[in-house]
Amino acid sequence: MTQGQLKIHSENILPIIKQWLYSSKDIFLRELVSNACDALTKLACLCPHLDPSTFRVDVTIHANERRIVISDNGLGMTAQEVETYIAQIAFSGAEEFLKKYETHQEKDQVIGHFGLGFYSAYMVSSLVTIQTQSYQEGSTPVCWTCDGSSTYTLEDGIRQERGTDIILTLSAEEDEYLDMKRLSEILHHYCAFLPHPIYLNGTCINPEPPLWLKAPSDCTQQDYLTFYRKLFPMDPEPLFWIHLNVDYPFHLKGILYFPHLAQERDLKKESIKLFCNRVFVSDHCQDVLPEYLTVLRGAIDSPDIPLNVSRSTLQLDKTVRQLGQHISKKVSDRLCSLYKEEKERFLSIWSDLELVVKFGLVQDEKFYDRIKDCLIWKTTTEDWHTLDEMLTGRSERKVYYAPYDMEHHELLKVYKDKGLPVIFTRDHHPLDLAVFQRLEDKASLQFARVDAQLDDMLDPTKENTLLDAEGKTESSKIASFFQQKLELDATQVEAKSLASATLPALLMLQEGQRRLREHLAYHKQGALPFQPTLVVNTNSKLIQAIYSLGAKQPELAKQLAKQVYDLALLSQREMNADQLSGFVTRTTDILEKLTLD
Ligand code: ADP
Ligand code: MG
Repeated sequence: MTQGQLKIHSENILPIIKQWLYSSKDIFLRELVSNACDALTKLACLCPHLDPSTFRVDVTIHANERRIVISDNGLGMTAQEVETYIAQIAFSGAEEFLKKYETHQEKDQVIGHFGLGFYSAYMVSSLVTIQTQSYQEGSTPVCWTCDGSSTYTLEDGIRQERGTDIILTLSAEEDEYLDMKRLSEILHHYCAFLPHPIYLNGTCINPEPPLWLKAPSDCTQQDYLTFYRKLFPMDPEPLFWIHLNVDYPFHLKGILYFPHLAQERDLKKESIKLFCNRVFVSDHCQDVLPEYLTVLRGAIDSPDIPLNVSRSTLQLDKTVRQLGQHISKKVSDRLCSLYKEEKERFLSIWSDLELVVKFGLVQDEKFYDRIKDCLIWKTTTEDWHTLDEMLTGRSERKVYYAPYDMEHHELLKVYKDKGLPVIFTRDHHPLDLAVFQRLEDKASLQFARVDAQLDDMLDPTKENTLLDAEGKTESSKIASFFQQKLELDATQVEAKSLASATLPALLMLQEGQRRLREHLAYHKQGALPFQPTLVVNTNSKLIQAIYSLGAKQPELAKQLAKQVYDLALLSQREMNADQLSGFVTRTTDILEKLTLD
């Protein structure tokens, strides 16, 4: 057996870094500026007597020479250090430093970790020069140059003071980076919260530290709102916020805002900015947070989210998953306390909260367990209630619901008169149906739309069960009368004594069928034919009158029977365009007859 050491050839690795390591070329600036910040943080750590207010990073554009210079007065490097930290690709000086100075507080702010950041300079440069002088007494300045091939030169440098200049000569096609506005945008995007002052041609990019670092008890309402406006200048004011500060089992700081959610499409917006040690990493938070929480806006800062890796690997990271769970818990805790302590306010913003609560409860079982007691519904009693409140004192775990557009339907009066509250659901949206499914599984509840079953809408005292000579009840005769007049083979007709004198008829569709039909329609997977049962009300004067009219004026009786059917369609929002025009024609016809008589 032989054992060997894998060898890497630098002439092969540089092109890989150039092309594949980073998704965007802009990142070179983030990497070089964060190295400069690291150099200052390390200096603060090594020489605590120095006055940190003099520490700074300067980015300057020299358009005529096609150069960008990133300059810092940090700890600098000796010739030996340049050879170790720069010339050895993937040898991270940051990591070595962290190991050495484990006990220092400032070390937590060091950004680098993989030892590849520096080479991102070659994504945009044809030549990189480093002029550096170490902070150590008596050290000579050093100049390192490399054009991106595998050889470099190292010689005496010209820098007179402690610190480092990274001088980039841009490649021919990268002129855009000589534009002040463009560079300013990149710096504001990635470096707005870095720990040392950063100047672009003399203007400070990061005058204020990020609010998430302040203790929550020291932040005023105004601070939070101002910070939100800084992050999202175009957004309306947020509803409330959560200040995160976790040390175990991972480090996380941040502020998450709950925005106004006017529309469902807002759910798709990505608006949480992800930072790693104050360096902006990404705003693709769907990889870090559960889907239902991606509506939140704000910033989270965690050194435990890998900075340099691609988005797709983020999801697989254990810390990232824990982080998502932690945030989900914070959000549900906040919602619950809002519900318990500020109910009025909770109710007033429920239309903004609703989608998150409902999606979360469907998508995440743990979230369900925490949030279920804040799930409220508008009921026919005009108030908002939790299901538990509605069901107290009832033996049955059954809940009736109706879409808002049936709010004024006669049928709801029947339930109201019987003391059975009905909850309202979002019109034609399957989310509530998914919520019902979840509650049926977890809370052994049963949901049925008000027109799904007859059980609770009959008036048995008025049921006429007397049989005539042919052995038929009056109800069954009325049913077959309507069945025959309607000439609708697919529609079953039943005649029942409903607990209402004013409702002539209604269309009944079984709950399971209704859900399947809505599901298919919403997901555009085809339409299920609408095959309800028509229930005519034997307690309705109109039904009785049409039935008696049958012998004398069979043609008019037929028209009226159809009219009854259409009225049911109309009031239950099931009428289609063809049916509507038939209905209009027939109505005109009947009205004409009425006036002629
Ligand atoms: P990392 O930041 O992950 O350590 P980099 O490739 O970005 O990797 O940088 C490599 C090393 O080069 C740094 O760790 C540091 O030791 C050194 N270095 C880079 N830029 C500077 C600088 N401006 N001042 C001092 N040292 C620097
Ligand atoms: Mg770095």
